[in-house]
Parts: sequence; C-alpha cells; structure tokens
Amino acid sequence: MPRDDHGLAPLYLALREEAQGLCDSVAAFVDEAEESSEFDVRLQDAFRKSGLADLLVRGRDGGRFEEIDPLAICVVREVLMESSAQLDALFSLQGIGSYALGLAGTDGQRARWLPGVASGELLPAMALTEPGVGSDLKAITTAVATDGDDLVLTGTKSFISDASVASFFTVLAREGDGHSLVLVPAGSPGLTVEVGPELIAAHCIGDVHFDGVRVPAAEGRLGGAGEGFALVLATLTVFRASVAGAAVGLAQAALTEAVRHTRSREAFGRPLARHGPVATLLADSAMEVEMARLLAYRAAGKAREGAEGSLDYSSMAKVAATEAAGRVVDRCVQVMGRFGLVRGSRIERLYRQARPMRIYEGATEVLRLGIARSLTEQID
Ligand SMILES: Cc1cc2nc3c(=O)[nH]c(=O)nc-3n(C[C@H](O)[C@H](O)[C@H](O)COP(=O)(O)OP(=O)(O)OC[C@H]3O[C@@H](n4cnc5c(N)ncnc54)[C@H](O)[C@@H]3O)c2cc1C
Repeated sequence: MPRDDHGLAPLYLALREEAQGLCDSVAAFVDEAEESSEFDVRLQDAFRKSGLADLLVRGRDGGRFEEIDPLAICVVREVLMESSAQLDALFSLQGIGSYALGLAGTDGQRARWLPGVASGELLPAMALTEPGVGSDLKAITTAVATDGDDLVLTGTKSFISDASVASFFTVLAREGDGHSLVLVPAGSPGLTVEVGPELIAAHCIGDVHFDGVRVPAAEGRLGGAGEGFALVLATLTVFRASVAGAAVGLAQAALTEAVRHTRSREAFGRPLARHGPVATLLADSAMEVEMARLLAYRAAGKAREGAEGSLDYSSMAKVAATEAAGRVVDRCVQVMGRFGLVRGSRIERLYRQARPMRIYEGATEVLRLGIARSLTEQID
C-alpha cells in the first residue's frame, strides 16, 4: 500500500524520510546483520552517521529537540523496523537506557554521558530483568547500599540488550525498602558480562554480574533513593508506545511481502490474491495494521503531552500492535504457502522477529492486568 501521511505534521514526515535514508544506506549488508547476534559495527557506524540518535536526548544535553518527542521516536521506529530489526534495536536502546538519566541525572552525570549518547558514540543499556525475576520487578534481588561516599552494587541482571557493548548500565536495584536506579560505567571493577543466549530472532544480549561494584554516590544514583520505579515507568511510557510503532513497521513489511507474492502467483487460474479467503486474510491484515498505527500514534502523542493515563495508552498500543503484528505475520506466512517457510527468507525472518515483541517491555498478559485495573478504577 502507498504510504500516506496519516495526518502527521511535516516534521514527522521528514523524520520518516530521514529514517528511510538510514535504511537505504545499509541495504548492501543488512540481511547478513539481521541473522547475527553479534553487535554489527557497520550498522552502528551508519546509525551514528545518520544523526538519528540525537532524537533520544533533550536539547540541553546535546539532543535535537528541546524535549524528547515520543511521536518522533514512534514514527522513526516504524520505518526502521520495516527494514531491519537490528536498526530498530540500535535506535530504541539508545533511548531506553538513557531516558532516566536525562530526566533525573545531575548536571555532572548528564554532561558526562548524554552528548555521547546523542552522537551515537556511547551505548546505554537498561538492566531490570534478573535470572529469577522478569515481569514481577518488585521482586528483584540486586541490591545497592551506601558505604562511605560510594554505592556498592551486588546482583545479576539477565537478558540485557547490548550487554557486551554498552558504555554504561542503568540498573534497577533494591535499596532498603525501596528501589533505586544506579548508573554503572562499563568496565567498572567487579562488573562482568556473559554473552548469550541465542534467541529465535538474532539480538545482542547477555547477563551482567555486579560483584560488589562501587560507584561514587554522587555519580551513581539517578534521582533520589527510592525513585527507581517512577523513573522506569516514565521510561516505559515513552518506549512502550514506540514498540507499538515498531510492531506496525514489522506488520507492514510482512503485508507488503504477502501482497507482492499473492498478486503474482497464480493458482486455479487466478492470482492467489483474487481468491476470496486469501483476499480476506490480506484485507483483515491491512485493517489491523492501520488500527494499530493509529493507536500507536495516539499513545505516542499522549506520552508527548505527558497526559494523565498515558502509561495505560502506551500499554494498550503495545499490546494491540504487537498482538496484531503476530496475527498479521502469521496470516502472511499462510498465504505465501511453502515460500513463507524458507529459512532466511524475509517473511520467515519477520515471523521470528515478531515473537519477542509480545514479551519484552511488558508481556501482553501483564499489561492487560494494568489496563484492566485502571479501567475498573476509572468507571463509576
Ligand atoms: C529480545 C529481548 C530483549 C530484552 N532486553 C532487555 C533489556 O535490555 N533489559 C532488561 O532488563 N530486560 C530485557 N529483556 C527481558 C524482558 O524485559 C523480560 O523477558 C520480560 O519483562 C518478561 O519477563 P520474563 O521473560 O521473565 O517472563 P515471566 O515474568 O517469567 O513471565 C512469563 C509469562 O507469564 C505470564 N505472566 C507473568 N506474570 C503474569 C501476571 N501477573 N499475570 C498474567 N500473566 C503473567 C506472561 O504470559 C509472561 O509472558 C529482554 C527480553 C527479550 C526477549
């Protein structure tokens, strides 16, 4: 389908073009990069040169706009994911691991790290998940304690994106009765990284061990003691809405593959796309992609306004768009028949890449609980 403007202002349409320019610049090697869990320095280089990383940092810290714009992030992720999950990961992780630093960091903390994040030179990582704890983050066991002028961090974080290449980690840790966020530079004594495992869709991931890691308190804690969860939720409000944008991009890419295939392949004397059941699957998919896109943009717009209830909107958009992407890519494989099953083909890769999106940054079932909880509180 031709890409219409979906009512987006010229600023966002220009960002789409910019993101497309990045995708085009890596076309020669992106397929190879998509199947590797190794961090790809060619993609990183192209990403850095694109200048898009500056969308993820506020103007005062070297970013492009005065405030970080969630709709800009959402729109860019949609375009990147339509071409490459690895580009989408590069872009989004740049923001996920640094957003709390921009919100709550001191002048010194921000000056040390954020200009390098904005230029794409430094890579942040967000470390919440642990071997024994995923969705139930309040049960984490990684702990931080004050010792003189230092903070001392002990515990293990698991499934951390870009663990082996990150410049710094934003770590959620238990502190007394509450939870705090601690910024830990990579290479700190006592910090070790274990690479892997291989996922169904290639992704650079690893476990991070903190064995009595010391950071000066003034440089380490982000915000006050006990403010960790509020900062994580602020991060998720912005980035969950952008996962929805990425899911829309993935679904659109699958639909484009399926339309091209079913238009050109004939069975029983007609193109597959002219057979009623296939046409229905294509039409349902087009409708779902469009609905998901509109909700993603709406949630990102709400997050930009900092509107009340915007976390719920971001959760709704994330669930709706990632679940829709799962259904769409499954239908697309179906209408492509055996050609949808060929390992390494674009549609097969999209099928695998869609799956983790329903689990990371809040599994569908967990987000539904939060949405329903708010609903029951809102209606008299
Ligand atoms: C590609 C990828 C990248 C990741 N990157 C990072 C990262 O950079 N940093 C980081 O910290 N983490 C990261 N993660 C981890 C991710 O955040 C967790 O996988 C996610 O939070 C879910 O936790 P879990 O996998 O332990 O699932 P669990 O918490 O064990 O839950 C398993 C399943 O049980 C169900 N469930 C759980 N709780 C409930 C409930 N209360 N009600 C109903 N159903 C429920 C859901 O279906 C859920 O999928 C990444 C994961 C992936 C796949």
